[in-house]
Amino acid sequence: MTGDYTPVTDSVVAAIPLVRDAASSVALEGVTKSYGAVPAIRDLTLEARAGELLVLLGPSGCGKTTALRLVAGLEDPTSGTVRIGDQVVNDVDPRDRDVAMVFQSYALYPHLSVARNIEFPLRSRQVPVAERRQLVATVAESLRLTPLLDRKPAQLSGGQRQRVALARAIVRRPRAFLMDEPLSNLDAQLRVEMRAELVELHTRLGITILYVTHDQVEAMTMGQRIAILNDGVLQQLDTPEAVYERPANAFVAGFIGSPSMNILRGRLVAQGDNFYAAVPGGRVALSLPLRRAVEERGLEKVVVGLRPEALSLDPQGTITGVVSLVEMIGHEQHVALRLVGGQLVWVRIGGEAARMRTGEDVTVAARGTVHLFDPENGVRIEVGSAEEPEHSTGSANAPERSTDNAEHSDP
Ligand code: ATP
Repeated sequence: MTGDYTPVTDSVVAAIPLVRDAASSVALEGVTKSYGAVPAIRDLTLEARAGELLVLLGPSGCGKTTALRLVAGLEDPTSGTVRIGDQVVNDVDPRDRDVAMVFQSYALYPHLSVARNIEFPLRSRQVPVAERRQLVATVAESLRLTPLLDRKPAQLSGGQRQRVALARAIVRRPRAFLMDEPLSNLDAQLRVEMRAELVELHTRLGITILYVTHDQVEAMTMGQRIAILNDGVLQQLDTPEAVYERPANAFVAGFIGSPSMNILRGRLVAQGDNFYAAVPGGRVALSLPLRRAVEERGLEKVVVGLRPEALSLDPQGTITGVVSLVEMIGHEQHVALRLVGGQLVWVRIGGEAARMRTGEDVTVAARGTVHLFDPENGVRIEVGSAEEPEHSTGSANAPERSTDNAEHSDP
């Protein structure tokens, strides 16, 4: 049957644009979803703009899948508005919402060929046969599936199967795509390849994608913007650079980055012109703007955030600890130091440096950005303003992350 679909000429590919109309935005506005007394999503407002790849990121159980299912119409909100493009869709049947969902399980029909699998949604919509064949051919070409059109799913690799599932979603030319951990069944190398392919496809087709993952590396590498959820509450919605460089609160700070940011409780100390936070194992000097920021708030204690790359080995440094674990990555080493009191901090050093030995006493200096968070609510302390940063949607009520949670979280 391959002959029905190939060869595909450039003119055929060009003749059928894969995005039927302009891609649509998808939005939740003040949406709460409760199961019984327990809210899975609380007053959530976010929008994947038309043509945007927005990633929903958060730990297991934070409400990511529920948010997608609300957009798809598989769940009804307890309160709030669901919008696709200009249309409020709260009362629109899921079949009429014109969005495609792609899951981690491919759910292909095993007895049908790749071509028939891709074609399936068009058949059930009674799309005329000529148009069907052209669409299948165009989508297959676009996803490099043309040579595989005659195979059965069992004869494909995991990545190829996921591409077929994607093709089956694209062929419908929906207004937006909702993807729930679509790559999590793939092995690590394939996942990296598929990430790149998805991003490329997104750029080429200009489709709207709301993409769910718990993997912060995936979120950082794929998302144009990232919405970080915790316990059903939006913590921050911003670009990957902004959430890394200016996390809205201690939760986001600890969740983004690998090894994660070191989070230390500090007591503020002023000694003449010197101002520092006394932390386990030593102290961290605070700049004048940071000093002003904490003094404006009348704080005596802070939560200090230091990324592993902000620390460097230095005999003149101000924090000491014992090397507890060394991870040699090749181009760099991740060194875990055990501080007085037992907390671990991670230090990132160059791979060319001599391999650290466990049990060694070392001193480190904090040279990079020092992040400060309010010890009461975990909210970022912004330099130069006692207000919330304008760009941030971080919740003032966001729960504080445990301050001794400096464990290495592998993505
Ligand atoms: P994961 O990454 O583990 O899939 P998630 O972030 O997608 O998690 P959801 O599946 O959206 O989380 O679930 C959010 C919360 O709502 C969880 O506490 C979950 O137990 C609860 N929940 C989800 N679906 C239901 C349901 N049908 N009935 C009752 N509780 C539910």
